[in-house]
Amino acid sequence: MDEQGEVAAFVDRHGIETSLEFRLLTMVEEIGEMAEDAVETTGYGERPEEIGITEEELGDTMFTLLQIANAADIDAGEALAESLEKYDQRIDETGNPSSE
Ligand SMILES: [Mg+2]
Repeated sequence: MDEQGEVAAFVDRHGIETSLEFRLLTMVEEIGEMAEDAVETTGYGERPEEIGITEEELGDTMFTLLQIANAADIDAGEALAESLEKYDQRIDETGNPSSE
């Protein structure tokens, strides 16, 4: 995945390499920020039909996920391809992508 290499180069260029453990914590933080977007766009649940998230927080989350992939030495593109194949097989077998 080209984006994974771009993130690795960015992190290296700016000297902001950190541990996998810290990146996992940052991922939780970024997911929380998307949840905050959702809460705020709905007026704290009063307008559920208006739910939304910002491109900024989605981008932050993707950046962090690709940093995690780099820190764990996992090819994000291969991981995604394997997941799609797994879900495809589940849908064929059960009609549902869920494992339950
Ligand atoms: Mg953020």
